[in-house]
Amino acid sequence: MSLARTLLLKASDSTWLREHGTRAPFVRRAVSRFMPGETFDDMLGAARATAVQGIGGVFTRLGENVKDAAEANTVAAHYVEAVTRVRGAGLDCEPSIKLTQLGLDIDREFALGHARHLARAAREAGSFLWVDMEQSPYVDQTLEIVRRLREEGPRVGVCLQAYLLRTPEDLDDMIERGIGVRLVKGAYKEPPTVAVPLKADVDEQYFRLAQRMLGAPARATGGRAVFGTHDIRLIARIREHAMATDVPGPHYEFHMLYGIQREEQLRLARDGALVRVLIAYGPYWFPWYMRRLAERPANVWFVAKNLVVRS
Ligand SMILES: Cc1cc2nc3c(=O)[nH]c(=O)nc-3n(C[C@H](O)[C@H](O)[C@H](O)COP(=O)(O)OP(=O)(O)OC[C@H]3O[C@@H](n4cnc5c(N)ncnc54)[C@H](O)[C@@H]3O)c2cc1C
Repeated sequence: MSLARTLLLKASDSTWLREHGTRAPFVRRAVSRFMPGETFDDMLGAARATAVQGIGGVFTRLGENVKDAAEANTVAAHYVEAVTRVRGAGLDCEPSIKLTQLGLDIDREFALGHARHLARAAREAGSFLWVDMEQSPYVDQTLEIVRRLREEGPRVGVCLQAYLLRTPEDLDDMIERGIGVRLVKGAYKEPPTVAVPLKADVDEQYFRLAQRMLGAPARATGGRAVFGTHDIRLIARIREHAMATDVPGPHYEFHMLYGIQREEQLRLARDGALVRVLIAYGPYWFPWYMRRLAERPANVWFVAKNLVVRS
């Protein structure tokens, strides 16, 4: 892991930076590259604009590691209302939640209660509930909650991280249960005891897992196969593999983050691929934004440019 990436991921945990850094106008300007705004209506506006281009949406209200039950209740109520509002707006936009934002650090059953309520609301609205994957100590609890949600009904999926050594086994389990999988490379700082340290190896592991997600046994159990990546080379490899093995386009999707690889999103959609963009909003964006900077340390120059050019 590069030094820049390590430092940025360390900064994502800093309470001091979160409280002070987010007030700086140049930081607020720079973050607008990755999120259309802090409000739900900002997200709806962006989802409408992408829908016109044949691209679906996934929405997430930023926040994590909520320790206060009342705050977790507010977040859960927001998501239930949001699912109804999205449906009312006639948009194809699915919620993606973090379990620690729904109180997983307080109590597992408490978080499960919120997730269960939300999964039901999403099903009733004809939507789908995505569950994000957070740091490695949360993986077992996250998968256990997702399994329980799946036992109660369909239309639920979870993010799996290709960098984790355990993911091949977790993927098989999710496939067997018909749970949707959004495969990503992984955004957190993890020790080599649990994660593949070299990026080139993570990329290869991603491709191997993608092949499994496109295989006949996976397609037979009916879970959605989603590739959450901006890696153009990897996307091309996955599409070539799908074509070579006769996997039709509607069997898999590409999800990307708002503001990243916009041209590739449009190109894929024009080419008939299923594409969605994950649109984030909310005031608690600091750790999430730091992870976006860490993914491409060149992004720091973009922040610096905002400081020099506009202040
Ligand atoms: C829809 C979606 C959901 C996700 N959910 C989770 C989750 O629940 N848990 C989790 O751990 N991670 C999640 N991630 C993040 C993921 O783990 C990676 O950190 C992130 O996607 C970067 O990896 P990459 O696959 O794009 O490949 P990379 O090899 O990192 O990037 C490939 C290329 O994409 C472009 N790019 C990538 N990131 C950026 C960026 N931040 N800014 C500008 N350009 C960039 C660059 O051109 C880069 O060369 C999610 C990602 C997506 C797209």
